[in-house]
Formats: sequence, structure tokens, C-alpha cells
Amino acid sequence: MPVQRRRTCAAVATWRRVGLNVPSALALEQLPIAIVGCGGLGVPAAWTLVLAGCRRLTLVDDDCIELSNLHRQVLYPHAAIGLSKAQQLATALQARFGPLDIHCRQLRVTAETVSPALNGCAAVVECTDDAASKFIVNDWLVADRGRTGTMAAAIGRGGQWFTVSRHTSCYRCLFQQPPDPQILATCSVAGVLGPVVGAVGSWAARSLLAALQGQPDAAHGALVRFSPRGLLRTAVVRAADCICADASYRDGPDAPNPPH
Ligand SMILES: [Zn+2]
Repeated sequence: MPVQRRRTCAAVATWRRVGLNVPSALALEQLPIAIVGCGGLGVPAAWTLVLAGCRRLTLVDDDCIELSNLHRQVLYPHAAIGLSKAQQLATALQARFGPLDIHCRQLRVTAETVSPALNGCAAVVECTDDAASKFIVNDWLVADRGRTGTMAAAIGRGGQWFTVSRHTSCYRCLFQQPPDPQILATCSVAGVLGPVVGAVGSWAARSLLAALQGQPDAAHGALVRFSPRGLLRTAVVRAADCICADASYRDGPDAPNPPH
């Protein structure tokens, strides 16, 4: 058995022992999954996906690695400062897990770039510290019916994640629109603990995997918040006036899977 397959089996066996649903590694091998944001959340999310058996990734980030990132973006060495996060994450994953089919897109997700950036992807984990990016990815999921995505965020000592599919409410049902960037703190300003992004990024990826397996977890259509006090789940009802309430989206057929 190839070493990467043995590593996946070991991870999956651990998940089984602690009572987590286990996606089929074989089914995941061919599923193209995007990670938007290759920083503190994106690194553990990518690690979790590849450990589960994902072999086809699209890594989207326009940023370069800075010294202040290294304590929480633990796959990046000091020598990578100044280099592309997406490229370095691809390099680190392949060094650890062997050959993977990875596409790097060095760009920031906007309303104009989201479709070409995520073209061909069946699912996405949104891991940036940019609130507007989560709405853009959410809208892409709704527009490209049948896609599944998890939006993750962390700051300070806490974080949250929310998994969206055609069968759930969406990010706009909860927040309606992005907050004013002027009043929003980012990790670079407010700081975030390394273990927090490690936990939140991993759980967000796990939630996406559970949804893809057809055995959705507690974050499917709900906001799960992680803080020093513990976990808090808030179910989100589909808003009648939201973009996701459109009957053709809600009740229509799934979009076909991207070609292999
Ligand atoms: Zn909605």
C-alpha cells in the first residue's frame, strides 16, 4: 500500500475511534476542492483534507508569507518569508504527502475573479480573514447550485465556521451583508492564537468532508462558535427573501460534478 494511503488510513482510523464520521478516501481522491486563503486557517484545513484522502486541490491566495505569520501558519519555514502562500502551501503538502494534483491561483477573490478562481471545483473552504470574501464565495455556491462550502473565521481566542449546501440556509441568511471594513478587526491588527486557527481550520475542513459524505455535522446550516468557554451552535433558518430561497436553487437538480 502506498505510504500516503497508509497515512490516510491511520488518520481515518483515529477519527473512527473518537466517534467521527469518516468520508470515503477513495471518493475524495477525485473530488476537486478549493481552499480560499492559505494562512492560519487554510494551512490546517488543507492538512485535514489531504489527510482524509483529498488529492486534487486549488489553493487561492494573493498574499506572501510574513514573519508575523509563522507562529500560526506552521507549515511555512522561516526561509519562505516573502514567498507566495499558495505556492508554499503546495510545496509543503507535497513534501509531506507525496504527489498531489494542486493548482495555485495567486489572486484575491472578488466578484469578478471568483468564478475563474473556483472554476472546476466541487467544494470550497473559505479561510481568509476578509469578511467580504466569505459573502462572495457564498454567492458563488448559491449561483453554482449543488456546490458545498464551509466559511471559517478566527480572531483573538475564538473562531467560527458555517457549512452551506443547497439543502441549508446560507451565509447571507445569517449576516445579510458584509460589515463595514472600517469597524472590522483583522488578525493582523487584533491578533489570533495559533492553536485557535489550528482547531477552527481543521474543524471547518472536517465539516465540509462530512457534508460531502452525505452525513452532515452540526455546522451544516448552522454557525458553530469556538471560544475559551467551549462550543456554541446557532441553527440558521433559510430567510424567505434571501438569494438561497429561490425555488430553482433550493429544489432544482444539483450541478454536475466537474470533469475528472
Ligand atoms: Zn440564504
